[in-house]
Amino acid sequence: MEIYKGIGVSQGVSIYRAAVIDAEDYRIPKRVVPKREIANEVKRLRKAFLDATQEMNTLQSSQADASDGHIKDIFAVHLHFLRDRTLRKNITDIISEKQYSAEYAVSVVMRDIARHFNHTPDRYISERANDIFDIEKRIVRHLIGDKREDLKHLTAPVVVIARDLTPTETASFDKTYIKGLATDAGGRTSHTAIVARSMGIPAVVALGDLSQHVTQGDMIIVDGNRGTVIVDPDEETIKEYRSYAAEFLNNEILLNELAELPAVTTDFEPIELLGNIEFPEESTMVLQRGGDGVGLYRTEFLFLDVSEEPSEEDHFNAYMKAIELMGNRSITIRTVDLGADKFTQARSGEPERNPFLGLRSIRYCLQHVPMFKAQLRAILRASAFGKVKMMFPLITSMVELRQAKWIVADVKEDLEEQGIAFDENMPVGIMIETPASALIADDLAQEVDFFSIGTNDLIQYTLAVDRVNERVASLYNPMHPAVLQLLSSVAKSAKRAKIDVSICGEMASEPEVTPLLLGMGFRTLSLAPPMIPEVKKVIRSVSVEYCRRMARKVLAFDTESQTVNFIREEFRKINEGKLTE
Ligand code: PEP
Ligand code: MG
Repeated sequence: MEIYKGIGVSQGVSIYRAAVIDAEDYRIPKRVVPKREIANEVKRLRKAFLDATQEMNTLQSSQADASDGHIKDIFAVHLHFLRDRTLRKNITDIISEKQYSAEYAVSVVMRDIARHFNHTPDRYISERANDIFDIEKRIVRHLIGDKREDLKHLTAPVVVIARDLTPTETASFDKTYIKGLATDAGGRTSHTAIVARSMGIPAVVALGDLSQHVTQGDMIIVDGNRGTVIVDPDEETIKEYRSYAAEFLNNEILLNELAELPAVTTDFEPIELLGNIEFPEESTMVLQRGGDGVGLYRTEFLFLDVSEEPSEEDHFNAYMKAIELMGNRSITIRTVDLGADKFTQARSGEPERNPFLGLRSIRYCLQHVPMFKAQLRAILRASAFGKVKMMFPLITSMVELRQAKWIVADVKEDLEEQGIAFDENMPVGIMIETPASALIADDLAQEVDFFSIGTNDLIQYTLAVDRVNERVASLYNPMHPAVLQLLSSVAKSAKRAKIDVSICGEMASEPEVTPLLLGMGFRTLSLAPPMIPEVKKVIRSVSVEYCRRMARKVLAFDTESQTVNFIREEFRKINEGKLTE
């Protein structure tokens, strides 16, 4: 039994067998498979060679007229190796003799050949070592591809173990069978974590080299509450965790009973609790958990469902579905936040060097106006049928905001000319998720109807900490005084301008932080639907007066640890009913 510590990003406990998927661009971990799986590994290997050969053949014929001799050379080398029976036999032998997984066996044999090439004095031959790495990658990609494909045809529940997962992969998982996630990479607010939370799948990320130590079919415990993963637990531990999981579930049931009760403080201040969604169907969960509406609809996930760029009708139909489910409750539709870790990198020929500082969010939309306009038309058309608000992500300047608004005005004019109905007074707001927008919030507030603070990005840009990089995860600190000062300052700017302000980053999903946010003046929180009951419970246990005192105290602290310790201690008192106000 081995215990791994990571970051718990989605609550709950899962005890199931592992389905391991590796990353093709990562060093393939040494993995020994049980004897009964050897034949299957050999079969997978054969198929990967066949698929890779077919792929090369297609590539070669599509480049048949290429005059570049270098390209022809590369194709020839690849095909030579892929058709080489001895090579395939060597790999098969290692699988059979040493019980290595097909991926690892490929990696061992190919790296041996590459080493050999590297050591020859002939420069032409030594340069071929790079081709060998390429071929290794190509075969491994086919092997891993079929494992990822397998996840679509599961017949029994599993816990997925991976080096990393993209938000797209996570969102396409079938909840019936995928019961837990554990990844080596990732951070608390990576989009993969957010999606897991929304789907209610227990997940732990930033586990170092966990994926190298798990074999397909190992028994795994994923404890998303404590950020722990246990590989191959003993009977006693499994028993302990089963009863802990049952207790957790019971508590969930009790919390869900709060759904019908209002989110109101002990001194009768109503707080609006909204849900964050990625798909319209999740609106149902928002309602079940007692949410008052949708505060953030991450529409870029529409790019997952359709093979091409979604059309105006794809957008419109999705929004109408959400409106149908939410009835008269408000829905804040965020225009697509593509880029960074969402969709564009994998599709582009040349990925950006620094995607979180690159062409993402509103910047991407302003450079792809026809795509942007199609979405704006759909949002406006949907606004005729429900309480729709529109929100732009990642605004960093007044000019950017005005450009986006001009395009909206343009689209409105077109709709008017075409006699298509829309809500002329549909509120338009922006996300405050960069220090730049937080610092010019007074000006921005003059030209928008509301702010919603995206703390996930605000924290990463303020502290210069990549939100998806597990190596700096310990520096990603929501309680950093700079972050808290910015939050408080934005709340004040919104109050001065008399516009609504909410928080829709993951900080709003943290029950420990709820009193502090109320104390800073926030009255609307938008959060992961599964967390609504827990946050509501805290709201119903505190008074605004108490929260204000807490905020005053915290804003005077000069280190994050003071805040963390203080709010943790207060949270304990709240939970134990020992709060003396
Ligand atoms: C945020 O940045 O806090 C936010 C809500 O947006 P996203 O997580 O989609 O980047
Ligand atoms: Mg964001």
